[in-house]
Amino acid sequence: MSTAVARDVAVIGAGAAGLAAARHLRREGHSVVVFERESLVGGTWIYTNNTEPDPLGIDPTRPVVHSSLYASLRTNLPREAMSFREYPFVPKKTGHRDPRRFPGHKEVLEYLKDYATEFGIGELVRFETVVNRVWRGENGKWEVRSRKRGGEEEEHMDEAFDAVVVCNGHYSEPRIAHIPGVDRWPGKQIHSHNYRVPEPFQNQVVVLIGSAASAVDISREIASVANQVHIASRSISDEEATMVPGYDNIWLHPMIERAHEDGTISFSNGFKIVVDIILHCTGYKYHFPFLDTKGIVTVDDNRVGPLYKHVFPPSLAPWLSFVGLPYKTAPFPQFEIQSKWIAGILSGRISLPSPEEMTKDIEAFYSSLQKCGVPKRYTHNMTGYQFEYNDWIATKCGCPQTEEWRKKMYSATSLNREARPETYRDEWEDEDLVLEAYQDFKKQISCQNVTSQLQNFNM
Ligand SMILES: Cc1cc2nc3c(=O)[nH]c(=O)nc-3n(C[C@H](O)[C@H](O)[C@H](O)COP(=O)(O)OP(=O)(O)OC[C@H]3O[C@@H](n4cnc5c(N)ncnc54)[C@H](O)[C@@H]3O)c2cc1C
Repeated sequence: MSTAVARDVAVIGAGAAGLAAARHLRREGHSVVVFERESLVGGTWIYTNNTEPDPLGIDPTRPVVHSSLYASLRTNLPREAMSFREYPFVPKKTGHRDPRRFPGHKEVLEYLKDYATEFGIGELVRFETVVNRVWRGENGKWEVRSRKRGGEEEEHMDEAFDAVVVCNGHYSEPRIAHIPGVDRWPGKQIHSHNYRVPEPFQNQVVVLIGSAASAVDISREIASVANQVHIASRSISDEEATMVPGYDNIWLHPMIERAHEDGTISFSNGFKIVVDIILHCTGYKYHFPFLDTKGIVTVDDNRVGPLYKHVFPPSLAPWLSFVGLPYKTAPFPQFEIQSKWIAGILSGRISLPSPEEMTKDIEAFYSSLQKCGVPKRYTHNMTGYQFEYNDWIATKCGCPQTEEWRKKMYSATSLNREARPETYRDEWEDEDLVLEAYQDFKKQISCQNVTSQLQNFNM
């Protein structure tokens, strides 16, 4: 007989993580309120032309623009591998949908809206409602202070919940490269958070710092209008500048050494050039401005901790949890399994180790990172072990392990992206895995709407 207990749970954010959390919490029988600052679901995938007035995103009082998407963005994962497990991301024939395997950002937003509709999540969301503060009240309940966006500070509302699930995303608070001398350098600087289109870079000499997926996309896009693009990357060793194959105006360099008052930038390979704009594609910081745990959970050099399996702070578990902190993953299926775990633990169906055991596990994890020379700021980088992690949680939840095709497809895409950075979204060799994925979608599908979509697609 089930002894499951229903809890009152607040979810902060209605991006993909918040939607998955809401879906699985409700499925488990909890009552859920989702707080969302925007007027629709989708989080990061809600593209906007708006940018922040501070192009580097340093000013803490700046009006925040949540999304970091640029206009031309297409996914860097194929839709099959990106997909939530229980809601396949298949092309739709209806409306103005984008059927490509690596679709544009609008299509992902439409998929997330479909997901919310399919599982009736919209009715749980308080839109245009900003969470300003979350703290633990004296009675042990979690207090959530929110207010309508644009409303007065004093018009806030405080509500008590048994548990809070934090799903506020981590691609909005820019991380900036430290460049000696930059304060007196006369050029412009911008972070990729505020990059939308290449036109402002027309005829400019640009230094772009970074080498992750969006840095690769943006450097190529800017090169179509800029005079020169010089990429500074940690992964390039100290050697002569090399040209990016296929381009006559993109160079690769090791890191910047210094910015100078005369407008030049010098690199550690000895190369020096007068530069108009530095574009920081240097990633983001975890940021929880609303969360007051009295110092129990901290962000230290981009490590959010201490967290058991990137989800639960031991002394506050399971009443405070985080969905979606890891990166270098296929995010949606991971949000799904983390959410199922949290939901099952809150209801008492799944158990957690004691706080002491969780703390020991975290300490062992941190010391293994240290032994391997992994800096703290990479604590949530899951390169190479996302599926093992997901499957560990799946076992706790009694859910099936990751599909073999998904693992293979993720690796095949990574290799293809490296081999063909310009064309991997349109040229691939894992057709067999696509077929396997669709066979699997057909077998596993439980939602009528998606079944009919699959039939539409003749797969
Ligand atoms: C440039 C870029 C490209 C990417 N490409 C891919 C890709 O190809 N494939 C892929 O799978 N993933 C990609 N990602 C990762 C992407 O971030 C995830 O897919 C996913 O959308 C993250 O979801 P989330 O819910 O964690 O965060 P978000 O989508 O950021 O959602 C967080 C939500 O919380 C809300 N919120 C925040 N603070 C508050 C508050 N105080 N009160 C109320 N609401 C609040 C925000 O408004 C937002 O709606 C990309 C990310 C970026 C930045």
